[in-house]
Amino acid sequence: MAGIGTYPEWQVRGACRGSFALDFFPPPAGERRDEQRRREGRTKTICANCAVAGECLDYALALRDVHGIWGGISESERRELMGLST
Ligand code: SF4
Repeated sequence: MAGIGTYPEWQVRGACRGSFALDFFPPPAGERRDEQRRREGRTKTICANCAVAGECLDYALALRDVHGIWGGISESERRELMGLST
């Protein structure tokens, strides 16, 4: 996903560029668990077909970014990977 500031080169090749991008983060007003599951399912399908999924996940893990879907991995899954409490 696109971050704020300087963008790594691989981001221009991300399958999420464009109108899909908003789905990669929870809505500001929050969402029910079933809505979250559907949203994450949609985004993970996009990530599964992304040429830069590995770079994307590595980037998020290096930044320890716990917001949004990166590399097909959800916030809670990434927290677990990073050894953070959920
Ligand atoms: S892996 Fe997913 S979040 Fe990352 S650039 Fe690709 S489509 Fe976007």
